[in-house]
Amino acid sequence: MRKFFYAFLAALLAVIPEISASPRDDYYSDDASRALGSYSSEAQKSGFDRMAYFNLASIQKEFGMNNDALASYRKIITMADNEYRAHFELAKEYYFQGAYNFAEDEIKNLVFKNIVNWEVYYWWGCVLLEENKLDEALEKFNMAVAADKYKNLTYIKMSYLYEKKGDIDNAIDKCKLAIKYDRTYTELNRRIAALYEKKNDRVNAFNYWRKVNDVDSKDLTAMEKMKQFMSNMPFLQKKAREYSQYVKDEREKISPPERKSVQNTGEITDVKVGLMENAASISFKCGSNFDFVNDRFESIFRGAKLKEFSFGIDRKKKAAYFTDGVDRVYFDKKMYIMRDNPESTTTVYNIKYAEGFYWAETKDTTYRGDFLIIYENSALTLVNIINMEEYLYGVVPSEIPPTWPIEALKAQAVAARTYTFMHMERHEKEGFDVCNTQHCAVYSGVDGETKATNEAVNSTRGQVLYGSNYRMLNTFYSEDCGGHTQDVNEVWGLKKVASLGGVYDGKRSDWNFPLQPFDLEEYVRTRPDVYCKTYGAGETSFRWIRYLNADDLAYYVDKNADLGRIKEIRPVRRAQGGALVKVYIEGDKGSKTYGFDSMRNVLGKIRSNVIKWEYLKDEKGYIKEIYIYGAGWGHGVGMCQRGIKGMADDREGYESILYHYFPGSYIKTRY
Ligand SMILES: [Zn+2]
Ligand SMILES: [Zn+2]
Repeated sequence: MRKFFYAFLAALLAVIPEISASPRDDYYSDDASRALGSYSSEAQKSGFDRMAYFNLASIQKEFGMNNDALASYRKIITMADNEYRAHFELAKEYYFQGAYNFAEDEIKNLVFKNIVNWEVYYWWGCVLLEENKLDEALEKFNMAVAADKYKNLTYIKMSYLYEKKGDIDNAIDKCKLAIKYDRTYTELNRRIAALYEKKNDRVNAFNYWRKVNDVDSKDLTAMEKMKQFMSNMPFLQKKAREYSQYVKDEREKISPPERKSVQNTGEITDVKVGLMENAASISFKCGSNFDFVNDRFESIFRGAKLKEFSFGIDRKKKAAYFTDGVDRVYFDKKMYIMRDNPESTTTVYNIKYAEGFYWAETKDTTYRGDFLIIYENSALTLVNIINMEEYLYGVVPSEIPPTWPIEALKAQAVAARTYTFMHMERHEKEGFDVCNTQHCAVYSGVDGETKATNEAVNSTRGQVLYGSNYRMLNTFYSEDCGGHTQDVNEVWGLKKVASLGGVYDGKRSDWNFPLQPFDLEEYVRTRPDVYCKTYGAGETSFRWIRYLNADDLAYYVDKNADLGRIKEIRPVRRAQGGALVKVYIEGDKGSKTYGFDSMRNVLGKIRSNVIKWEYLKDEKGYIKEIYIYGAGWGHGVGMCQRGIKGMADDREGYESILYHYFPGSYIKTRY
């Protein structure tokens, strides 16, 4: 009977038409393409509602439907000819369509009305460049630079222009400027290297291929090129030898300093920080005499202070060893370094930072605490064993500038402490708790420490944040939320927690989140008055534009999957805070949907997911250029680091700063 009833109910429900969601709901649904239809019918129904057409055009651009977007903007202008925003967009659409005369007419009209900014001149230059009117294009690009010299897009186009003219020096110069004003454009290093090769300037070509290699050690072209250059140029080998001698001499002088320890009678949790993985050798110098202690906790060798020791692997004996440069002592699996003087520090050579990022580097780093060396799978792992508070001394200054107000530093200290407690099991398999990279938290040891950040750690000693669910909170944070944080459930699918929902990052919202498509476009293209708003000229963490041509786009996508030449990029799902959570990319060899975190790498290592874009295609239907307009830097979940500075500048205390980003949370003292 009951079965029958449900069958009946199901049949009944099937004939009731689905209650249609609003177009905005469609835009934020699992399939943003539904919004194309719903905004289109809303626009048609609305008659003369400009906003409806702006919204429609905004989505059409995202789906690469430039023809339709063009029609929508034209519709707006027939309704209201003085809608200059639509004229500007129309100019771009004409350019995207290759209708250069029309594009130029629209731009001249804007200039005639004195509605000019760097962008108007930029697109004007682009039009002329496509028409091969190089001198005129150059003139417009120069005007774009005069209007805003920090916009690196202009320099990129100028570089192409100079290359076309055969002026390689200037082409290189403009490329360098483009990187200077936005350092995420690392692919330009490849371009500069190639341009130097064109000039037959092998030293500089080598240097730039090395830069490519610094950022991406797996870049095959760069590796091959470096090898080639090295073998063909003996003086490069000589220079490399000289440099390693110089480093050796400098290291002779290293004397790791003493540092006052945190008061600790064992109540503070120890943190095991992974400093190196898959290493073939590890060298260090300790400021104190110390013991080499095996995993049965027996001291098997006394190490002298200020003497260089190394760990290495004997491939034949299939064993690890340590050495003072003369004798070798072999061991099986684990070896501890335990110092006599707890206030001494230790310098470890060649610690890698930020692999894969433009600020990648390798440097010697000095640490507090003891060490553990693990030999497993024919490789060495180096672990720093240190108490939580001293660990935070090395984390807080790597996260935010120590010059920021003390309340901001304190908020960061509590957030980092809580975050570490919540991630202690993250690297259990590798034999430590947390790593020293951005994956867990960048940790720069004693070298990063400052008085102010140590003070922030001391004055919040043991304090952690609990959430609205009365449990310790996963206090995520990132550089800059762009104006609204993201919900942890929406972007990562983690359990919904009120304390980790998205919040508007300002005093008073002029923006009605979730934003309509056009509002979102305006939001990423302008600088709303929020806590994380930055004022620095040419500053690119709050608002930015990422430009990629076909080759660069394929270069970044290829690192993940071989999709060939890219034809389509489509938004799939957005979070209410504006972040794109899923994106669909189609090339001639296949297609793939990317999630929240991988999307940033694939779309050219962009800074955040709060993005809108427009792209143009070539005659064959491949994407020729894409412009991604973005807000903020990082995942945007939880605390906004630029925002805590804004709040602290507004004289908010660290507690209320934390409660703003983590609504319903409270502080608990653990020790
Ligand atoms: Zn990690
Ligand atoms: Zn923010």
